[in-house]
Amino acid sequence: MRIVALAGGIGGARFLRGLKQAVPGDGEQTEITVIGNTGDDIHLYGLKVCPDLDTVMYTLGGGINEEQGWGRAAETWSVKEEMKAYGVGPEWFGLGDRDFATHIVRTQMIAAGYPLSAVTEALCARWKPGVRLLPMSDDRVETHVLIEDRDAPGGRRAVHFQEYWVRLHAEVDAQAIVPVGAEESKPAPGVIEAIGEADVILLPPSNPVVSIGTVLAVPGIRQAVVEAEAPVVGLSPIIGGAPVRGMADKVLAAVGVETTAAAVAKHYGPGLLDGWLVDTADAAAVPEVEEAGIACRAVPLWMSSVEASAEMARAALALAAEVRG
Ligand code: GDP
Ligand code: CA
Repeated sequence: MRIVALAGGIGGARFLRGLKQAVPGDGEQTEITVIGNTGDDIHLYGLKVCPDLDTVMYTLGGGINEEQGWGRAAETWSVKEEMKAYGVGPEWFGLGDRDFATHIVRTQMIAAGYPLSAVTEALCARWKPGVRLLPMSDDRVETHVLIEDRDAPGGRRAVHFQEYWVRLHAEVDAQAIVPVGAEESKPAPGVIEAIGEADVILLPPSNPVVSIGTVLAVPGIRQAVVEAEAPVVGLSPIIGGAPVRGMADKVLAAVGVETTAAAVAKHYGPGLLDGWLVDTADAAAVPEVEEAGIACRAVPLWMSSVEASAEMARAALALAAEVRG
């Protein structure tokens, strides 16, 4: 079975770890291809940082800081402290010493002419995540957020997504989300082929706007998913009207989508989604989603353990089999 999953950072990675446990292990013919969001990428200290790709790579490769959900386990912060002593920031972005090495290797390879997809493959040779991890694109795409700023011309200003999320904690309202460069970007090598050859396509409970939405904004990817023979099943990142973790409500509001499991399903739409899983707390939303033309089931969607995530993955694969008929 060939499974393709689009993914952001923490929500995507935790689900994928469950998916890996749920599918038959080595020897059986299961191949998971992950198409990762690179709209969160940022250049810091002259280095190219890919937070979502790294979260997937570290989580599946056993190097993640478990409590935090991002960054390396057993991390130390000497480089950051030394940078601070020089007055060089940003202080608000956490890059630990171990993590720095990843970004140095990546930046060095890119400077030598390797595309991000080749660099990611090289980094994964160490981490062995057990999935094929592809960036959505080798081209630079950077998500920016328009926020109100009375001092700026026009009364608003664009900030990098990381600045909005990490420095501003999404406390100011987002007026618009702009994946800068997306329109001119091309899917990375292998992305369209993987979608076309997939038996199942999964949308993990990643952020629908700034993670999955950005992947789908790369020209050709949404169309490939829509036209794929494989059933497409998504899992709600919203439980009981709130994001389980993080501030997804802020970016959903920016695109005019309510923070409910049903609204997110309809935002993806029946053209894209064949099936949708909501949490048991949202069981009342099932008829509304089904009326919109998307098969829907309510199952527990809290990724409180790897086994809980694996159970979610089994439910997603079962729904995919069901809608395939
Ligand atoms: P990010 O790039 O690190 O923000 O991660 P993703 O975009 O992959 O996932 C973020 C989303 O995961 C958040 O918007 C949450 O709503 C969702 N999420 C986090 N933990 C859980 C969980 O246990 N269950 C569900 N259903 N969603 C979760
Ligand atoms: Ca992200």
